[in-house]
Amino acid sequence: MLVSRRRTAFSCIWGRRLAEGSIWESDSSRSCSELFESLGLTASETQRYSRHLVLPEVGPEGQRRLKRSSVLVVGLGGLGVPAAVYLVSAGVGRVGIVDSDLVELSNLQRQFIFSKADLGRRKVDAAEEKLSLVNPEIRLTCHPVRLDSSNAMELIGEYDVVIDATDNLPSRYLINDTCVLQAKPDVFASVLGFDGQASVFSTPNGPCYRCLYPEPLVADSVKSCEEAGVLNVIPGIMGSIQANQAIGILLGNGTPLIGRLLVFNGLDNSFNEIKFRKNSSCAVCGSHPTITRLIDYEEFCGLKRTETLAEFNITAGQLKTAIDSGKRPVLLDVREPYEYSLCHLESSTLIPVEELDARLGELKRDSEIVVYCHVGVRSAGAVRLLRQAGFANVRNLQGGIDEWARQIDNNMPRY
Ligand SMILES: [Zn+2]
Repeated sequence: MLVSRRRTAFSCIWGRRLAEGSIWESDSSRSCSELFESLGLTASETQRYSRHLVLPEVGPEGQRRLKRSSVLVVGLGGLGVPAAVYLVSAGVGRVGIVDSDLVELSNLQRQFIFSKADLGRRKVDAAEEKLSLVNPEIRLTCHPVRLDSSNAMELIGEYDVVIDATDNLPSRYLINDTCVLQAKPDVFASVLGFDGQASVFSTPNGPCYRCLYPEPLVADSVKSCEEAGVLNVIPGIMGSIQANQAIGILLGNGTPLIGRLLVFNGLDNSFNEIKFRKNSSCAVCGSHPTITRLIDYEEFCGLKRTETLAEFNITAGQLKTAIDSGKRPVLLDVREPYEYSLCHLESSTLIPVEELDARLGELKRDSEIVVYCHVGVRSAGAVRLLRQAGFANVRNLQGGIDEWARQIDNNMPRY
């Protein structure tokens, strides 16, 4: 197959000349400019994309098609960075990048476009600077905003294909629904630990994210990479797969992951596939959709439920004041032992959240308890559990120990 493809490639005169290098040794400047004109690309583009031009699946026509196309990358994290780098360097004519975050030290482990000099800068600004150096011949559009129900229709409406490189459930449903409502392909991936998943939603007659997951998983059970960690190369692999999917869709090449969830395991280095179908009763892409415009995705994903716990929150500053005034509450750390060994609050008791239900007897019901974890998600679940078990005076350290390290103890290691 490889041989016959190569033969096809080299049967094209431009492909042959590119492969032989003779395109760069043209007889005269006139014939050279005629050649580039006939390819519909500039001299610089012809040289830049020469490895694409010799591919029969791309060639000059495919490269011109990429040049006329646009892709929106939502999220400049571990997935969005490699996806954006590959789309920009592939010559996609317009690439949009959406992110409202600033570059943090913990990003550098996997978001390789950023450096230490970028810490504290807006991600879109730092990325724009680097990406425009990689390929100044494409148009790069920065959107320094958080994608939400108020701006998604307008933003996504400007592009041909969307890359969902976000890391949370509300954004996934928001991007999916917007793409379905606007008939745009949604190129999805997610990563956690050593695992990655990828698929393509919202293509004509193809299923969507809601066909696969009609209801959001319980918010408490969905850990983020911040909570659960991720090996740095996993988003690199999955983000590259997203770029490959987007390029394939734009070129009309190959078989996209439509109705197929690609599952990568980075420990045993295996790829598996789960097949799924369009759900005729899907709330957004089914035959009688109930979602015909964007909704409140935080509420849909149950995150507003956590907000109702706000009255049980205590800030890092309030806790510090209480400790300084001699009213030290029982400090309950619900993280894993290895996290505790990295850093913990003085005189705190460690009971990992999974063990809490079985170890309630170790806590006094009339004690004033402040529960904390890394960023405040697991501890919110622990507060709910303790209150249901009859602990009346329990509060959640808002933002977790990470917020404590930021606000109160700058010497505390952050992770
Ligand atoms: Zn659907």
